[in-house]
Amino acid sequence: MTFKLPKLNYSHEALEPHIDKLTMKTHHLKHHQTYVDNFNKALDGHEEYQKMEIEDILKSLEELPEDIKTAVRNNGGGHYNHTIFWEIMSPNGGGKPKGELAKKIDEDLGGFDKFKEDFKAAALGQFGSGWAWLVLDSNNKLAIVSTPNQDNPISEGKKPLLGIDVWEHAYYLKYKNKRADYIDSWWNIVDWEKVSERFNEVE
Ligand code: MN
Repeated sequence: MTFKLPKLNYSHEALEPHIDKLTMKTHHLKHHQTYVDNFNKALDGHEEYQKMEIEDILKSLEELPEDIKTAVRNNGGGHYNHTIFWEIMSPNGGGKPKGELAKKIDEDLGGFDKFKEDFKAAALGQFGSGWAWLVLDSNNKLAIVSTPNQDNPISEGKKPLLGIDVWEHAYYLKYKNKRADYIDSWWNIVDWEKVSERFNEVE
Protein backbone atom coordinates (compact mmCIF):
# COMPACT_ATOMS: atom_id res chain seq x y z
CA MET A 1 0.00 0.00 0.00
CA THR A 2 1.12 3.50 -0.64
CA PHE A 3 -0.18 6.60 1.06
CA LYS A 4 -2.60 8.86 -0.81
CA LEU A 5 -3.71 12.47 -0.68
CA PRO A 6 -7.10 12.51 1.07
CA LYS A 7 -10.08 14.23 -0.51
CA LEU A 8 -11.57 17.10 1.46
CA ASN A 9 -15.15 16.99 2.74
CA TYR A 10 -15.68 20.51 1.34
CA SER A 11 -14.57 22.55 -1.64
CA HIS A 12 -11.40 24.62 -1.67
CA GLU A 13 -13.41 27.82 -1.43
CA ALA A 14 -15.73 26.59 1.32
CA LEU A 15 -13.68 28.00 4.16
CA GLU A 16 -13.77 31.55 2.78
CA PRO A 17 -13.39 34.19 4.09
CA HIS A 18 -11.34 32.62 6.89
CA ILE A 19 -9.05 30.69 4.57
CA ASP A 20 -9.04 31.78 0.94
CA LYS A 21 -9.47 29.44 -2.03
CA LEU A 22 -5.98 29.89 -3.47
CA THR A 23 -4.36 29.12 -0.11
CA MET A 24 -6.52 26.00 0.28
CA LYS A 25 -5.82 24.77 -3.26
CA THR A 26 -2.09 25.31 -3.01
CA HIS A 27 -1.92 23.91 0.50
CA HIS A 28 -3.91 20.76 -0.25
CA LEU A 29 -2.98 19.97 -3.86
CA LYS A 30 0.68 21.10 -3.81
CA HIS A 31 2.09 21.16 -0.28
CA HIS A 32 0.21 18.15 1.07
CA GLN A 33 0.67 16.19 -2.16
CA THR A 34 4.43 16.78 -1.92
CA TYR A 35 4.51 15.38 1.63
CA VAL A 36 2.60 12.30 0.42
CA ASP A 37 4.94 11.81 -2.55
CA ASN A 38 8.09 12.20 -0.48
CA PHE A 39 6.72 9.94 2.26
CA ASN A 40 6.06 7.21 -0.32
CA LYS A 41 9.51 7.76 -1.81
CA ALA A 42 11.11 7.36 1.61
CA LEU A 43 9.23 4.09 2.19
CA ASP A 44 10.10 2.72 -1.25
CA GLY A 45 11.66 -0.70 -0.69
CA HIS A 46 10.54 -0.80 2.96
CA GLU A 47 7.45 -2.95 2.59
CA GLU A 48 7.02 -3.54 6.30
CA TYR A 49 6.31 0.17 6.80
CA GLN A 50 4.14 0.54 3.70
CA LYS A 51 1.71 -1.89 5.31
CA MET A 52 1.53 -0.06 8.64
CA GLU A 53 -0.93 2.54 9.84
CA ILE A 54 0.69 5.97 9.75
CA GLU A 55 -0.04 6.45 13.47
CA ASP A 56 2.02 3.36 14.28
CA ILE A 57 4.93 4.56 12.15
CA LEU A 58 4.97 7.99 13.81
CA LYS A 59 4.59 6.51 17.30
CA SER A 60 7.85 4.64 16.88
CA LEU A 61 10.03 7.01 14.87
CA GLU A 62 13.10 6.04 16.85
CA GLU A 63 12.82 2.46 15.62
CA LEU A 64 13.02 3.47 11.96
CA PRO A 65 16.19 2.74 9.98
CA GLU A 66 18.57 5.72 10.14
CA ASP A 67 18.53 6.31 6.38
CA ILE A 68 14.77 7.01 6.27
CA LYS A 69 14.12 8.38 9.77
CA THR A 70 14.32 12.10 8.92
CA ALA A 71 12.39 11.79 5.67
CA VAL A 72 9.61 9.84 7.39
CA ARG A 73 9.49 12.25 10.31
CA ASN A 74 9.15 15.27 8.00
CA ASN A 75 7.00 13.87 5.22
CA GLY A 76 5.01 11.23 7.10
CA GLY A 77 4.46 13.90 9.74
CA GLY A 78 3.44 16.36 7.04
CA HIS A 79 0.93 13.88 5.63
CA TYR A 80 -0.54 13.02 9.02
CA ASN A 81 -0.69 16.62 10.31
CA HIS A 82 -2.48 17.91 7.23
CA THR A 83 -4.93 15.00 7.21
CA ILE A 84 -5.98 15.96 10.75
CA PHE A 85 -6.05 19.67 9.87
CA TRP A 86 -8.49 19.22 6.94
CA GLU A 87 -10.66 16.94 9.04
CA ILE A 88 -11.16 19.26 11.98
CA MET A 89 -12.21 22.21 9.83
CA SER A 90 -15.63 22.76 8.28
CA PRO A 91 -17.59 25.57 6.63
CA ASN A 92 -20.20 24.82 9.33
CA GLY A 93 -17.67 25.10 12.15
CA GLY A 94 -17.19 27.63 14.89
CA GLY A 95 -19.00 27.96 18.19
CA LYS A 96 -17.97 25.95 21.21
CA PRO A 97 -17.33 22.34 22.10
CA LYS A 98 -20.20 20.50 23.82
CA GLY A 99 -20.70 17.56 26.13
CA GLU A 100 -17.80 15.57 27.55
CA LEU A 101 -15.14 17.53 25.67
CA ALA A 102 -16.47 20.86 26.96
CA LYS A 103 -16.45 19.47 30.49
CA LYS A 104 -12.91 18.19 30.10
CA ILE A 105 -11.70 21.57 28.79
CA ASP A 106 -13.25 23.20 31.87
CA GLU A 107 -11.59 20.69 34.17
CA ASP A 108 -8.12 20.50 32.65
CA LEU A 109 -7.65 23.84 30.90
CA GLY A 110 -9.62 26.35 32.94
CA GLY A 111 -12.55 26.76 30.55
CA PHE A 112 -13.03 27.45 26.86
CA ASP A 113 -11.97 31.11 26.88
CA LYS A 114 -8.78 30.34 28.77
CA PHE A 115 -8.11 27.43 26.42
CA LYS A 116 -8.48 29.69 23.36
CA GLU A 117 -6.15 32.26 24.87
CA ASP A 118 -3.48 29.70 25.77
CA PHE A 119 -3.81 27.90 22.45
CA LYS A 120 -3.35 31.17 20.59
CA ALA A 121 -0.27 31.95 22.68
CA ALA A 122 1.19 28.54 21.79
CA ALA A 123 0.44 29.06 18.08
CA LEU A 124 1.96 32.55 18.13
CA GLY A 125 4.91 31.41 20.19
CA GLN A 126 5.94 28.64 17.81
CA PHE A 127 8.99 30.33 16.30
CA GLY A 128 9.20 29.70 12.57
CA SER A 129 7.26 26.81 11.06
CA GLY A 130 5.18 24.37 13.04
CA TRP A 131 1.89 23.60 14.69
CA ALA A 132 -0.08 24.15 17.88
CA TRP A 133 -2.17 21.29 19.23
CA LEU A 134 -4.81 20.34 21.73
CA VAL A 135 -3.79 16.88 22.88
CA LEU A 136 -4.80 14.19 25.30
CA ASP A 137 -1.64 13.20 27.14
CA SER A 138 -0.65 9.83 28.56
CA ASN A 139 -2.24 10.73 31.94
CA ASN A 140 -5.55 11.29 30.16
CA LYS A 141 -5.31 15.06 30.65
CA LEU A 142 -5.91 17.65 27.98
CA ALA A 143 -2.89 19.82 27.21
CA ILE A 144 -1.77 22.45 24.72
CA VAL A 145 1.54 21.84 22.98
CA SER A 146 3.36 23.16 19.95
CA THR A 147 5.64 21.25 17.60
CA PRO A 148 8.28 22.49 15.16
CA ASN A 149 8.30 21.62 11.45
CA GLN A 150 6.05 18.62 10.78
CA ASP A 151 6.50 16.89 14.11
CA ASN A 152 3.33 15.48 15.66
CA PRO A 153 2.60 15.00 19.38
CA ILE A 154 1.77 11.35 18.66
CA SER A 155 5.54 10.71 18.53
CA GLU A 156 5.64 11.72 22.21
CA GLY A 157 2.75 9.54 23.29
CA LYS A 158 0.08 12.25 23.04
CA LYS A 159 -3.11 11.97 21.02
CA PRO A 160 -3.72 15.05 18.83
CA LEU A 161 -7.36 16.20 18.94
CA LEU A 162 -7.04 19.54 17.17
CA GLY A 163 -4.19 21.29 15.42
CA ILE A 164 -3.49 24.55 13.61
CA ASP A 165 -0.88 24.82 10.90
CA VAL A 166 1.22 27.95 11.50
CA TRP A 167 3.61 27.50 8.60
CA GLU A 168 3.48 30.70 6.55
CA HIS A 169 2.11 28.70 3.60
CA ALA A 170 -1.08 28.23 5.65
CA TYR A 171 -1.90 31.93 5.89
CA TYR A 172 0.57 34.24 4.15
CA LEU A 173 -1.39 34.92 0.92
CA LYS A 174 -4.32 36.38 2.84
CA TYR A 175 -2.91 37.44 6.19
CA LYS A 176 0.71 38.24 5.25
CA ASN A 177 2.75 38.41 8.46
CA LYS A 178 -0.33 38.62 10.72
CA ARG A 179 -0.41 35.16 12.20
CA ALA A 180 -2.60 36.38 15.09
CA ASP A 181 -5.37 37.47 12.70
CA TYR A 182 -5.30 34.07 11.00
CA ILE A 183 -5.63 32.30 14.36
CA ASP A 184 -8.51 34.55 15.46
CA SER A 185 -10.38 33.90 12.22
CA TRP A 186 -9.63 30.17 12.25
CA TRP A 187 -11.86 29.53 15.29
CA ASN A 188 -14.85 30.19 13.00
CA ILE A 189 -14.11 27.05 10.99
CA VAL A 190 -13.13 24.61 13.72
CA ASP A 191 -15.47 21.62 13.59
CA TRP A 192 -16.04 20.87 17.27
CA GLU A 193 -18.19 17.84 16.48
CA LYS A 194 -15.23 16.28 14.71
CA VAL A 195 -12.87 17.22 17.54
CA SER A 196 -15.31 15.63 20.00
CA GLU A 197 -15.35 12.47 17.90
CA ARG A 198 -11.57 12.30 18.07
CA PHE A 199 -11.76 12.85 21.82
CA ASN A 200 -14.40 10.15 22.32
CA GLU A 201 -12.41 7.63 20.24
CA VAL A 202 -9.72 7.53 22.86
CA GLU A 203 -11.81 7.65 26.00
MN1 MN B 1 0.80 23.12 5.83
